[in-house]
Amino acid sequence: MKQDPFDIIANGRVLLPDGETAAVDLRIQQGLIVEIAPRLKGKKTLDAAGDYVLPGFVDLHCHGMGFCSLEKGSLAEWAALEAQQGATRFFPTLFGPPENLIELMQQHLRETDQLKATPQVGGFRLESPYLAQTGAGRGEDLAPILPELTDRLLIAGGGHIRIWDLSPELPGAVETIARLSGQGVVCSLAHTRATIEQARAAVDAGLRLVTHLFDTFAVPEMIDPGVYPAGLVDYLLVEDRVTCEIIADGTHVHPLLVEKALRCKGPKGVAFVTDSNYGAGLPPGDYRLPAGWGEARIRDRNNGVRLIARGLVLAGSALTPLNCFQNAVQLFGKSLAVASRLCSANPARLLGLNAGEVALGRNADLVMLDADLNLKTTIVAGRGVFGVYE
Ligand SMILES: [Zn+2]
Repeated sequence: MKQDPFDIIANGRVLLPDGETAAVDLRIQQGLIVEIAPRLKGKKTLDAAGDYVLPGFVDLHCHGMGFCSLEKGSLAEWAALEAQQGATRFFPTLFGPPENLIELMQQHLRETDQLKATPQVGGFRLESPYLAQTGAGRGEDLAPILPELTDRLLIAGGGHIRIWDLSPELPGAVETIARLSGQGVVCSLAHTRATIEQARAAVDAGLRLVTHLFDTFAVPEMIDPGVYPAGLVDYLLVEDRVTCEIIADGTHVHPLLVEKALRCKGPKGVAFVTDSNYGAGLPPGDYRLPAGWGEARIRDRNNGVRLIARGLVLAGSALTPLNCFQNAVQLFGKSLAVASRLCSANPARLLGLNAGEVALGRNADLVMLDADLNLKTTIVAGRGVFGVYE
């Protein structure tokens, strides 16, 4: 954005880290929040006019929005769509054969000058290839864990791979998790039929995230009739070292299970994600999606993106980061403070971002929402990227 950044955001109802909203103004310098107090004066003021001022949303798992993804369109176009949906940081997620991942990461790093041109992009996430099962993907998207392939992917990512999905039961998983975690890559347990012991070994090695809990997890079999079986999901729900991400549309995960996860993990142990596909953010209708996805139907934003030629099977969510936040409050009945943790503070903390809460020294990555939680403005490092900010 070309215009000068704001130095004051005034007249907002600001959500503070204690979970309360307060009538305070924010002073911003060099992209950081440097003062929080009533009636501040500065050079360029943004009048929030009584709207909520909240931390911007952080989406850890997303494959596309509108007609944009890593396969189609530019990261800059995708980031502009994310800004319209309140995301101040997102992690474009790759799923495909290893050679495609390498090519796509290199292409986007070239186009964005190593992501410097797209500050909303926190880095890449690799969902394939180190998975035991594909979920909605294809066999050619998967590969055995090999140190040489790990090296090639890391080099292609140029230090920008921030999240890496793995199935703990694959040979070499534990060593790879230890190696990647040691380099600051967040490893995520994904698409797996691992035993509880295999999963615990992965957590011991440094794994700290769970990919779309409940989706792609098997229901444990009753082996001893009359004895209720404990499975992998039960372990993850009580393992305090991992954050569980949940696709927050109420369709991928029933609201009862969302509530169960929140009660087990506490409000700090869950992150809402979109796992959005092409089509996310579009109004209800039938769409021809690019990259071989064919015709898809969106009934409403909480019903997913569904493939018409394949019996309306789910092919990812139609959610946007704003929808996740709205659902946290309006569908799952959580307070603004809890919703903000799920959509901002928890994912930011896990990725080590200086963001996710409105506090001194944090990035001025903010959203403004009206009383009905409609998005008015998105601000990244003090600069308006969407909305009324002149
Ligand atoms: Zn995904």
